[in-house]
Amino acid sequence: MARPGRLSDLRLKDYREPVIEISCRRCDRHGALECKLLVKAFGADASFAVLRRRMAIGCERMQTPEGDKCDAHFTCLGDVDAPDGRQNDN
Ligand SMILES: [Zn+2]
Repeated sequence: MARPGRLSDLRLKDYREPVIEISCRRCDRHGALECKLLVKAFGADASFAVLRRRMAIGCERMQTPEGDKCDAHFTCLGDVDAPDGRQNDN
């Protein structure tokens, strides 16, 4: 299970790569957005939890009576439970 706390801890300014990828298996949604555009739109302090919600707008599973059932996740982060597993100095 992905813990939401991880995504709220991770902010755009902590992210080192130019493109952020998100996908949702349940709604067959894929997207890639330029990091710098997201910084412009949401600010460098925006957390990935916020981005996830923004990028999954339109996903009807995001807001259900039972809560967030959307499977949207950042493929670029790999396993969100291991945020330190990927370090790239470039
Ligand atoms: Zn979804």
